Amino acid sequence: MAEESRVQGTCLCGDVRFSVRLPTLFCAHCHCTMCQRAHGAGYVTWFAVPVEGLVFGSGEDQLVRYPSSDHGTRTFCNRCGSTLFCESKNHPERIDIVLANMQGPIDREPQIHAYFDNRAAWVVIGDDLPRLGGESGTEPLPK
Ligand SMILES: [Zn+2]
Ligand SMILES: [Zn+2]
Repeated sequence: MAEESRVQGTCLCGDVRFSVRLPTLFCAHCHCTMCQRAHGAGYVTWFAVPVEGLVFGSGEDQLVRYPSSDHGTRTFCNRCGSTLFCESKNHPERIDIVLANMQGPIDREPQIHAYFDNRAAWVVIGDDLPRLGGESGTEPLPK
C-alpha cells in the first residue's frame, strides 16, 4: 500500500492547524477583486483538493465563514485573520486552499493566472504562465 502523502498548513497565529492529502487537483494565481480585498494582496495563489483530503489538527472552532457570493464561502481565522479556504456550491466536492499557509511544498507549481483581466493595475507579472479571464476567470483573453 502506498504511504499517504500529506502537507501541513497553519494560520498566522498557529491556532488553526490542518493537513492536506496529496495529490492536489490544480494550483492557480487568482487576480479577482474579491481575492484582492479578502487577502489584502495583489493576487492570491490557491490550490485545491477533494474536501475529504483536508483534515484539521486544531482550531476548527476558530474558523469564521464569510459568504462572499451567492455560491462562495471564504474562511478565515477568528484570532489572526489569516485567509485560509474558499468553498463553492458550484463544486462542493473540492476545497480551495491558500498556498501561502502551507509549511512545505505541494505536488505542483502554479499553472495559470485566473481573472487576469481583473488584476490590480500595479501588479507586474514576469512569468510565462497562461493569462486567463472572462466570466469564469479561466477563458482565453483577447491579445
Ligand atoms: Zn490564526
Ligand atoms: Zn479570486
